[in-house]
Amino acid sequence: MNMPFRSASLYSKMFERRTVLIAGGAGFLGSHLCERLLRSGCQVICLDDFSTGRMENLRHLLRFDTFSFIRHDIVNSIDLPIDEIYNLACPASPVHYQADPVQTMKTCVFGSLNLLELAVRHQARIFQASTSEIYGDPHVHPQPEGYWGNVNSFGPRSCYDEGKRSAETLFHDFHTRHGVDIRIARIFNTYGPRMRPDDGRVVSNFIVQALKGQPITVYGDGSQTRSFCYVDDLIEGFTRLMSDSVTLNVPVNLGNPVEFSVRELAEQVIALTRSPSKIVYKPLPIDDPRQRRPDITTAKQELGWEPSIALAEGLEATVAYFERQLVRPNSELVEVV
Ligand code: NAD
Ligand code: UDP
Repeated sequence: MNMPFRSASLYSKMFERRTVLIAGGAGFLGSHLCERLLRSGCQVICLDDFSTGRMENLRHLLRFDTFSFIRHDIVNSIDLPIDEIYNLACPASPVHYQADPVQTMKTCVFGSLNLLELAVRHQARIFQASTSEIYGDPHVHPQPEGYWGNVNSFGPRSCYDEGKRSAETLFHDFHTRHGVDIRIARIFNTYGPRMRPDDGRVVSNFIVQALKGQPITVYGDGSQTRSFCYVDDLIEGFTRLMSDSVTLNVPVNLGNPVEFSVRELAEQVIALTRSPSKIVYKPLPIDDPRQRRPDITTAKQELGWEPSIALAEGLEATVAYFERQLVRPNSELVEVV
């Protein structure tokens, strides 16, 4: 059932604010984006089915008159008076997107289709949160946007990888056929405060395990690599990509190009938390990509964007967040904005 919300058009008419719809706004990245756009004076409507998103990610935003949220599954169409759309709605952790793979595929495909149709109806610019998973288990390093990838269409990661690829195709076709102003960010592993303790992704898993003194679960031998971007850097990239001064209607990599092995990450987390935890090695999941690093030349040249927060600094802030979460799970309630 949809939640009541304040009239967006009323505010935008009174103050000539941009009304921005953020699908997936109650999630990790979405809640940071809501906050960022509210601070910059936008009217923000968060649309979320709360499948992996959480109310505590939003509670500190309820004091903004310009903020509202609607409980809605984007697999079903919706009409709202909006000027811009960000589509972040989709579980991002392998644990969560594999829990209901058909729903993941429906969210990527039907959800994107519904939001693109909404964009056509209101002549709205629309942003798609795409992913480095577009490249699958890549054979080219680092990965430039022109690389087509190495993706398995028939495995446990396929619902997400192929769903996101199909979404990019829909965005391309709505741009060429209907002239929709599309923006596509291919996001590489991003971490930070407001990840769920049970998110299942590597950074949150390692930090929570270290803080609880539990074994750190490295999958495989830990030699596989990822490039970890801190959330604030990424959100800056989103807003630059969506700005009026940019006209990039093609996918753009956003991520931190500094590459770490999973074992190095485990060692950094143990050192930072001064944890007594020991590393234990577990089986490597099927189709786990061996190596991943973004080529961010396009973002640098076209957006003047590159990450500024090193892993050690970002981990420190993330550890502090999880420390608060583990002591007091609703600590976002007292966050001051
Ligand atoms: P998240 O799971 O915290 O957030 C996803 C949000 O979407 C949640 O609030 C969830 O409740 C909502 N949602 C899921 N399905 C929905 C549906 N059918 N209808 C409405 N809402 C729905 O994940 P995140 O890390 O914040 O990722 C946000 C977006 O960025 C996702 O689209 C993800 O694919 C993309 N992305 C994230 C990363 C990353 O490293 N964080 C990397 C690549 C891509
Ligand atoms: N990983 C790990 N231990 C964990 C969770 C993940 O070793 O507890 C590994 C996983 O196998 C992958 C990497 O960390 O090689 C990143 O996993 P994550 O789920 O964060 O994202 P992915 O990039 O695989 O989508």
